[in-house]
Amino acid sequence: MAKIQMKTPIVEMDGDEMTRILWRMIKDTLILPYVELKTEYYDLGLLNRNATKDQVTVDAAEATKKLGVAVKCATITPNAQRMEEYPELTEMWKSPNATIRSILDGTVFRTPILVDSVKPVVRNWEKPITVARHAYGDIYKAVELHTAEPGTAKLVFTGESGAVQELTVQKMAGPGVLQGMHNRESSIESFAHACFRFAIDTKQDLWFSAKDTISKVYDGTFKEIFDRVFADYKAEFERLGITYFYTLIDDAVARVMRSRGGFIWACKNYDGDVMSDMISTAFGSLAMMTSVLVSPDGNYEYEAAHGTVTKHYYRHLKGEETSTNPVATIFAWTGALRKRGELDGTPELCAFADRLEQACLDTIEAGEVTGDLASLAERESKALTSAAFLKAVASRL
Ligand code: NAP
Ligand code: MG
Repeated sequence: MAKIQMKTPIVEMDGDEMTRILWRMIKDTLILPYVELKTEYYDLGLLNRNATKDQVTVDAAEATKKLGVAVKCATITPNAQRMEEYPELTEMWKSPNATIRSILDGTVFRTPILVDSVKPVVRNWEKPITVARHAYGDIYKAVELHTAEPGTAKLVFTGESGAVQELTVQKMAGPGVLQGMHNRESSIESFAHACFRFAIDTKQDLWFSAKDTISKVYDGTFKEIFDRVFADYKAEFERLGITYFYTLIDDAVARVMRSRGGFIWACKNYDGDVMSDMISTAFGSLAMMTSVLVSPDGNYEYEAAHGTVTKHYYRHLKGEETSTNPVATIFAWTGALRKRGELDGTPELCAFADRLEQACLDTIEAGEVTGDLASLAERESKALTSAAFLKAVASRL
């Protein structure tokens, strides 16, 4: 059989731990036998980030701007415990995703992958809920400090004109913590545009939530910008019979729980981080959630929403065969290949992505699943190792 050809490469960002193992297996079993794969490879594994002083992450993000499509494996974000685990680390490197997002800007759309045999925990959810997470700024690009002594904290802005705005944050009577964060109107605008366009593309209602009653200037600006940008899309929304509305984040949470699904929920950066894990878990499994970063200038970075599955990796290192779910990582690959096919005008590549996704869903519906789904499935299912699951998908493909 002739392999499917690609015109333009995609950016391939390798990662860490169990997902790095799955990455190799997915390529070998499901992609390389069928596609003449062209990628520009960047090793974002922690040790290579350390060896390159994290330059590799910046290079991978820059390459994504050039090639337009990337696929990324989950990566370790080092913390104090990782510094002990990897004594060779010269710095507590920043989250690669935060670095990539601050270079590409844009919005992360996370959608659960629904299968008939796994029912959502929330009984009334019938359709997927897509969380649209603003991927720039707030606490992910903040500065913070700890003070051991009493004193006064101020927020000071010095304009280019020389004008100074100054507020007292707090007169601290004792030790405490402080944080300064920001966002840019241009980034919020592109977040709003991305959400309205995605709603139109997928013909779904758009909700946006924040906390403008408490954060009148910061969150209030988000709300105003969404209202302003919506004017550009209002007519198209009316034509399609879809709606946009803004509500407070706590009200949104209550409404989401009572909803039937089938809409996009736009969230600020932190809310989106937290809510997408809640939504994916309630729909079934964190391992059944797709994630794509769409930048304002039309670049796409696909990944799984879950992490490197450390606990499974330690079992793998002990020689155990694990039953880690590769579906979200497979869908990261299919998302990237389909987008490449759309941009390059190579429909065979899009069709391959469709068939691979269908093969995954058919395998799960047939009761051949990984451990996370075996415990959730309403149909009789057997828990396969990751390797056996991939083989079962390959046989259908
Ligand atoms: P995690 O890797 O998502 O895993 C948390 C737990 O969720 C696992 O222990 C496992 O539960 C379950 N799980 C997640 N993905 C699964 C899969 N594909 N198949 C089966 N079960 C799955 O989160 P974490 O343990 O908090 O983080 C581990 C590392 O990942 C950290 O170093 C973190 O920095 C990094 N991380 C990276 C990204 C990213 O690159 N996008 C995102 C999040 C976290 P059981 O153990 O109960 O089976
Ligand atoms: Mg997260």
